Amino acid sequence: MRHRHPAQHYISGILTGDRLVLSQAITLVESRRADDQAIAQQVLEAVLAKTGNSIRIGITGVPGVGKSTFIEAFGTYLTSLGHHLAVLTVDPTSQRSGGSLLGDKTRMETLSMNPNAYIRPSPAGDSLGGVAHRTRETILLCEAAGFDTILVETVGVGQSETVVHGMVDFFLLLMLAGAGDELQGMKRGIMELADALVITKADGDNRAAANRARVEYQNALHLFPPTGTGWFPPVLTCSAMPSQGTEPHGIMEVWQLIDEYQQQMTQNGARNRRRQDQQLTWFISLLRQRLEERFYGQPGIRDTLTRLENQVFTGTLLPLQAVDMLLGELSGKH
Ligand code: GDP
Repeated sequence: MRHRHPAQHYISGILTGDRLVLSQAITLVESRRADDQAIAQQVLEAVLAKTGNSIRIGITGVPGVGKSTFIEAFGTYLTSLGHHLAVLTVDPTSQRSGGSLLGDKTRMETLSMNPNAYIRPSPAGDSLGGVAHRTRETILLCEAAGFDTILVETVGVGQSETVVHGMVDFFLLLMLAGAGDELQGMKRGIMELADALVITKADGDNRAAANRARVEYQNALHLFPPTGTGWFPPVLTCSAMPSQGTEPHGIMEVWQLIDEYQQQMTQNGARNRRRQDQQLTWFISLLRQRLEERFYGQPGIRDTLTRLENQVFTGTLLPLQAVDMLLGELSGKH
């Protein structure tokens, strides 16, 4: 069993950049226990003034696109520039299915030994909102611990991208050349969220296909509505683990692009607006989550629900009446 510490232990540990304490604090934030949550809240409030100064980058792509290989190369490059990097991996599938789309193998081996990098996998919560809630708070803790660049990695298979998009400054979509039409169809919604696309594995026999894909995707992006920030999402190619003796390429360019984006958006105020919008979204989703927790946390609520469901089903009660009865119960108890 893990030992819980007083809030001050986490606060001072985080502010001095102690990774062990940072990890403990993230575990605390991820905990569902009310007493853990109370301490986590105190810790977050105490370090809040030290947060917000990083660049937050979301990275997504289907399994096998090369996310971990890209992050190894990209992260190693960033640390060579003197950045302190935290990598948070959000895997919406890991808990429920028992398996994990991000793989059980050790990922990012080089980066995990890099003294200027910190890697933290976030297991799935029971709900998407839960994942988002904890990841946002984890970002804040990492910032308070001195990390100036935060990468949030997620698997490009569903709704989690939208959630991660809602907590980062820059959203990077990794794509494979020659992916099937059905896959691209599925990707459309995600492509609209992207601030840049990177075609991975642009090396060896795949290089020409990657260049063709780059042009195709660039054309496809032109058809999307403008972002309103003056930014047109570019498409790049990269090779993070070259085959056939070629050098890695495209990694530095991705960083230059993000850097340029950051400068432009800071100057024109779009970065600030994006973060303000995100705070509001966070507030609304927290409120929704807490209301749900409070509602379903009422003693006997499941039985009452089953009873009312049966009555609605058999037509002896109208849905509206059932809802009123349930909500009346809620306000009566709180
Ligand atoms: P993830 O599931 O998105 O994290 O993908 P991985 O990073 O695990 O990569 C999936 C596979 O693609 C692995 O076998 C990698 O070795 C390979 N791969 C990743 N990046 C590159 C690249 O730049 N070039 C080539 N040729 N293979 C790559």
